[in-house]
Amino acid sequence: MMTEKQTILLQASGPDGGAEAIARAGEILRQGGTVAIPTETVYGLAADAANAEAVAAIFEAKGRPADNPLIVHIAHEEQLEQVISRRPRGLEILTRRFWPGPLTIICPKADRIPLVTSGGLDTVAVRMPSHPVARAIIEASVPLAAPSANRSGYPSPTTARHCVDDLWGRVDAIVDGGRCTVGVESTVISLCGEVPVLLRPGAVTLEQLREALGRVELGKGVLERLEEGSKVLSPGLKYKHYAPSADVELVRGDSAAYTAYVRDRAAKETGLWAMCFTEDQERLGEEIPRLCYGGMEDYAAQTEALFDDLRRLDALGARRVLVHAPQPTGMGLAVYNRLIRSAGFHITDV
Ligand code: AMP
Ligand code: MG
Repeated sequence: MMTEKQTILLQASGPDGGAEAIARAGEILRQGGTVAIPTETVYGLAADAANAEAVAAIFEAKGRPADNPLIVHIAHEEQLEQVISRRPRGLEILTRRFWPGPLTIICPKADRIPLVTSGGLDTVAVRMPSHPVARAIIEASVPLAAPSANRSGYPSPTTARHCVDDLWGRVDAIVDGGRCTVGVESTVISLCGEVPVLLRPGAVTLEQLREALGRVELGKGVLERLEEGSKVLSPGLKYKHYAPSADVELVRGDSAAYTAYVRDRAAKETGLWAMCFTEDQERLGEEIPRLCYGGMEDYAAQTEALFDDLRRLDALGARRVLVHAPQPTGMGLAVYNRLIRSAGFHITDV
């Protein structure tokens, strides 16, 4: 059991534009504390990336396995020098096109960044977020290591309320900067091998990365379960993830087949919920409880709603959730990648 902390909640809004909250968060971080901060993707649990003890407190607060590396967040290009030892091929193209924004790039690690931050690897993940509060907090402190601010295994937090639910008493502060607009974690690409590899899909899509770099491979584990004991480029892909307490089943098929399947199952089971698309609503009928997480091809709406809906289903008392799977293209690949893990790879084709 970790000793309980006196968590404080800081409002990054109001008449001073959040200046006081930002200054206070910066101070706590400079002193080696842990602070949950808003970013455009999801809330991150931040600490000084170069301070091994501070970073260890992130792992403890989250209950995160020690070999799962963290992303280092910077506010301007000059900070890259403090974090990486060499600029790999393709870095310039990506930073010019996608930074600040939801793209994390794996590069060779500078010695200044301790191994606890990189999960023991000699590479480091770096991102420059676009969220004004995240940027201001980094400006007021140092480069920040920050994984998603949830308890390990649960859906990522997209509101300060989610961080409070998971981390109150376990971190020094939580900064409320409103709802995250992207809603899923950053895209992760490695530039450390022969060919760039997409390790985690996000709002910057595989298609956009290929347009920028030419060849980009899809990492093992993006679309399927990794085999036991297989060597993984991105350790985070090994673990159960994004899962609410309810049993999630991912259903692949068109609207008619999905809704028929859900109706059939609902006739036999209690506590069953649908997590569906706008286009499914009418066919589902009125009896079956559901959350609608966007239009079938409106991937931006799906990413924004995804984690909040998974958390809400627990609050609503759902026992089993039948989620209609999106197409794994464009930003739909990010939604699909998170959902197969929420479902523990329980996938049904109809
Ligand atoms: P989170 O910050 O919780 O969204 O997780 C960070 C993700 O980035 C995890 O999936 C990690 O495995 C991945 N990651 C971070 N650093 C590295 C690295 N040096 N090499 C490969 N993957 C990494
Ligand atoms: Mg995470």
